[in-house]
Order: sequence, then structure tokens, then C-alpha cells
Amino acid sequence: MQNYDIAVIGGGASGLACAVRLKELDKNLSVVIIEKGERAGRKIAASGNGQGNVSNVDLGAEHYHGSGAFLAENLCSSRLYDPLEIFDFLFASDRLGRIYPAGKQGSALSDCLLRKVEKLGIELKLSTEVTAVERGFTLTLSSGEKLHAKKVVLAAGGKAQKQFGTDGGGYELAKGLGHTVTPLYPSLVQLKCDTRHIKTLKGIRTECKVTALSGDGKILGSSAGDVIFTDYGVSGNAVFYISSYCAGVDDVTLSLEFLPDISEECIRADVENKLANGYPQSELLCGTLHNQIGRAVMRRCESTDARTVAHAVKNFTLAVQGSLGFDYAQVTKGGVPASEVDEKLQSKIVPDLYLTGEVLDVDGDCGGYNLTWALVSGVHAAKSILNSFSTDD
Ligand SMILES: Cc1cc2nc3c(=O)[nH]c(=O)nc-3n(C[C@H](O)[C@H](O)[C@H](O)COP(=O)(O)OP(=O)(O)OC[C@H]3O[C@@H](n4cnc5c(N)ncnc54)[C@H](O)[C@@H]3O)c2cc1C
Repeated sequence: MQNYDIAVIGGGASGLACAVRLKELDKNLSVVIIEKGERAGRKIAASGNGQGNVSNVDLGAEHYHGSGAFLAENLCSSRLYDPLEIFDFLFASDRLGRIYPAGKQGSALSDCLLRKVEKLGIELKLSTEVTAVERGFTLTLSSGEKLHAKKVVLAAGGKAQKQFGTDGGGYELAKGLGHTVTPLYPSLVQLKCDTRHIKTLKGIRTECKVTALSGDGKILGSSAGDVIFTDYGVSGNAVFYISSYCAGVDDVTLSLEFLPDISEECIRADVENKLANGYPQSELLCGTLHNQIGRAVMRRCESTDARTVAHAVKNFTLAVQGSLGFDYAQVTKGGVPASEVDEKLQSKIVPDLYLTGEVLDVDGDCGGYNLTWALVSGVHAAKSILNSFSTDD
């Protein structure tokens, strides 16, 4: 049986960052990454529509959710670690504060980490799944092989988009070791809605403010940006963002505010002008909104009173009927609760087991927050492991 100092389960953002930092800090450590896919770092390469949205200028604590939000606040929002520092190239931010490699290619992120894996002599076992972990640690691999490691990093990701190797198996490994897992929901995902009022809008993209409201009218969250109308409901950046606040809530209504930068008074004056010029009811918002959207708003207006119409532009409601699910989600909401790890990300249940990235109950907003957490938690675990080796001696 092969023996290693550290075995990292999962060659995603978190596992790669952890292994690289471990070897950078101590080149004498034997480190193996076990990755069930044919390639490592596939989600980082796919992030930000393939452009690599790896972080954000604003890493405020309010962008993190779950029982482990405080861990992200301590490690990411506090700027204890710089998520970009492990890469060797320039980064640039867009007008929304999203940070990308300056060359805007997500594969540059995974290529950089994989180059370091090779250069540092980290063993990378591809197309190999860890099927069981016994305390101690003995890892059973899909090849039938077993290996031994002094410390294990569980960086197996969540349940979003199983084509990247993440089918929730990481949670099963955690459970097998005695951990619990909170309810899991798809997040940063397209939302299914009651499409009766948007049938004619399929394919139209518009910028608006979106507010998610619970059944009792409480504001769950709001966002601004692109909304794309589809045959199942709505997609687009603003929807991805707001979906995080809808996860796990039964009765949600979206309120779309068209023309967020134009006041209701201005819209009222515009409608009054059109009424004075004899526009038919269905055309009262033409030119002011996309014509199809304007007509859809007018179909729901009970009167042509300018005040009523202006209010309708600012409050176009859609009942949410669910999401497109884990196959389309960018991230999992839920995971191993933060109460089961210490501030070093070491398991409180199994000594020498570390948990990083999406397998923990931490999820971030749309805009680079999830990769930041994955990278920073990986780097932090590496540092914790190094410290624990020196304490063990
Ligand atoms: C299409 C898409 C776009 C995204 N865009 C962004 C974005 O723009 N910005 C952002 O911040 N976040 C984005 N995310 C989310 C982000 O990529 C993830 O949150 C992040 O990659 C999680 O990192 P991780 O290391 O925890 O897990 P992952 O990167 O998912 O890596 C886990 C790895 O573990 C492997 N694995 C699982 N189980 C086993 C096992 N038993 N044995 C061996 N290997 C195993 C998997 O194959 C996988 O490679 C996106 C996600 C998707 C799907």
C-alpha cells in the first residue's frame, strides 16, 4: 500500500489550491490528489462562461451564506488570504467588480494550477474515484487500489452539475466518516415561473431590478442586472443571483422592476403624454420598454390610469415554481455544517481530516464568491496542516 503524508480528495479549485500550497510551503511532503474526472480543475475552467470569474472586488461578508458564512467572512472578507495570489498572471475587474484573468480565459486558471502541480512533484491520480475512507486513514480507490495517508483533505465539491464529477459523492464520504449534511438545494440557477404572463417574451433580455418576496411579503433579497425570459421562466445574471435567496423557500414571488434608473413619476408623465396623443392601451409603453415587454405589462393593467401603469412597470410579478435543479445550478446551498469543523477547517469528528470548498455548508453569491471560498479555504487548510505537522513533532 502506498503511503502519503496528505491525500487530497478532489482535483477542483479547492483541492488543487490546497495541494499546491502544501508543497510550496514544504517540498518534502508527499502529497497525492485523487480526481475522478479525466481532467482536474474543470469547473474553474468553465467558470464565468469560460472567462474565469475567480473573485470580486467587493468580498463583503453579506455575499456569503450558510452555517459556514462566518468562516468565509474570517478567511475571505477579512482579506486574510488573497485568492489571486496563487496564480501567476494579471487580473482585471469589470464594471460589476467581477475579477477575471486579464486574458479572460478560465482555462488559464486551471492550467496555472496544473502546471504547479507538475512542477512541485504532486502526484495526480486522474480517472480515479475515492470510494471509501476509513479513519486512520485508508482510502479505497475505484481501481481497487488502497492507499494510506496521515492526513486527508476532503475537497470533493458539491452536487451541482454532475458532468464535472460533482454528484454529491463528497457528502456521502463525509457521512461515512460520521459527519452530517444539511438539506441541499441548487443555487445560482435559472428559475421556473408561472409563464402565463411571459409567453410572448421568450428570448428577450432586459436589465431590471429583481426582488424575491416570500408568501407573507417579506423581502428575501434583491439584485439588478440581466433577466432573460424563457419558456420555463427566467434566466440571466440577476436571476442567478436572486435564486440563492429563493432556495428552500416554498412560496416565492419575483417582482421585476423595469427601468430601475427612471422614476415612477417620469414614467407616469410619459404615459400621460402618450394618452394625450391617443395611443391605444396596448401601446402605452412602446418605446419606453421593449415593445413586447410593454404589451405584456399593459395586458396585466386593469386601467390606463398613468399612475397605475407606471406602478405596473415597477412591479411585474411572477410566481416562482422551482428551479432547473442541480443539473443547471452553479453551486450547492448546504453541506457539512460549520459546527463540525474548527477554525482550521479540521473535522471535530475525525482528527486529521480537513474539509474545504463546496463540501462545507458555505455558498456565495454570483460573481466570483464561490471560487474565492474554494481557493481560500484550500490554502487555509494547507497552512493548518503544515502547522499541525510541526505541533505533532
Ligand atoms: C458552469 C459553472 C460555472 C461557474 N462559474 C463560477 C464563477 O464564475 N465564479 C465562481 O466563483 N464560481 C463559479 N462556479 C462555482 C465554482 O466553480 C465552485 O463553487 C467551485 O469550483 C467549488 O470548488 P471545489 O474545489 O469545492 O469543488 P469542485 O471544483 O467542484 O471540485 C471537486 C472535484 O472533486 C472531484 N471528486 C468528487 N468526488 C470525488 C471522489 N469521490 N473521488 C475523487 N474525486 C472526486 C470532482 O470530480 C471535482 O473535480 C461555477 C460552477 C459551474 C458548474
